[in-house]
Amino acid sequence: MGTMKDQIKTLARQYAADIVANRRHLHANPELSFNEYNTARFVAEQLKAIGLTPQEGVANTGLVALIEGRKTASSENRVVGLRADMDALPIHEANDVPYKSTVEGVMHACGHDVHTSSLLGTARILQELRDQFEGTVKLVFQPAEEKAPGGASLMIKDGVLENPAPASMLGQHVAPNVPVGKIGFREGMYMASTDELYLTVIGKGGHGAMPDQLIDPVLIASHIIVALQQIISRNRKPANPSVLSFGRFIADGVTNVIPNEVKIEGTFRCMDEEWREDGLRRMKKMAEGMAEAMGAVCEFTVVRGYPFLKNHPELTRRMRSSATEYMGPENIVNLDLWMAGEDFAFYSQVVDSCFYRLGTRNEERGIISGVHTPTFDIDESALEIGAGLMSWLAVEELRVKN
Ligand SMILES: [Zn+2]
Ligand SMILES: [Zn+2]
Repeated sequence: MGTMKDQIKTLARQYAADIVANRRHLHANPELSFNEYNTARFVAEQLKAIGLTPQEGVANTGLVALIEGRKTASSENRVVGLRADMDALPIHEANDVPYKSTVEGVMHACGHDVHTSSLLGTARILQELRDQFEGTVKLVFQPAEEKAPGGASLMIKDGVLENPAPASMLGQHVAPNVPVGKIGFREGMYMASTDELYLTVIGKGGHGAMPDQLIDPVLIASHIIVALQQIISRNRKPANPSVLSFGRFIADGVTNVIPNEVKIEGTFRCMDEEWREDGLRRMKKMAEGMAEAMGAVCEFTVVRGYPFLKNHPELTRRMRSSATEYMGPENIVNLDLWMAGEDFAFYSQVVDSCFYRLGTRNEERGIISGVHTPTFDIDESALEIGAGLMSWLAVEELRVKN
């Protein structure tokens, strides 16, 4: 029968072709955030086919299913949560592959088809082996990772972290910069919070030759941008990563016409929820105060995004060492901080969480495009690894005593 690890590897190999077929089906039939109806139906059918009873309609298109292992001798029933996201992006696929997207302008360009099919494979493996581990595996298929307010936040509101409450959550994401066959980990701060800033500086426009008669919002908005950057450099703890970028600055005048108002849009990202609040408060105060001092008005609006993603250090060390056992030490890599956002962060703010990367790059075959590009694709041999490894990590995590 072999060890648990060997059995998982054998099953992952046995199911690999089906997992690839599922991935191709999902890839060819992508659905946008909050519209994952057919995807959810497909996932539900697959789960039912292996004897599970998924709870459907969580956060509308999400699903939750439990795999019950042996009952524990003690009253403590440990639960581990495994998460996959299911949504695609509004991108038109440029790949010429048999499983190319059949939906105009919609594409799985962030690998969520990979995460979903991989977790279905994991479900099949763990369901098969359920007599051989104690505790419960909670499968979480969530909608809308790519769109605010993030499917994860709605799944949490719908109670996904309760009844039963997972002691830990695991999530994996494809990594086009990590060679296939390798897995990346990082403890602690990993990905950034993502807030959107919308500023309107309202002055008084008119002829550019008579600035004394006007309140120039272009000059005032320029001062505000410089002052806000200085908040990042002067008020933030230097060890605390943070980015403020403005990508839109619209002063719709002409050479000799000063407009009435200027619109600015930007993104504020960091890895500390306290600094996030403090930074936003300071920026608002500075922008409004400066505009006022210069005779204008600044409307400062924040559209809140995801919190920052923290990988629980102890859990991540455990998962890294279990992954090392499964993959071999030469196949484990360290991840850098990344100032992009990811809604798995919502789970990580509530429960011990570990978000790791599944290598999908294959330079020889030209599979090198980044996520969110029309030529993104993966080396599909990553699927057998992804499904098997997550099964192994779940089993290992269930062995930990509460
Ligand atoms: Zn994405
Ligand atoms: Zn993604």
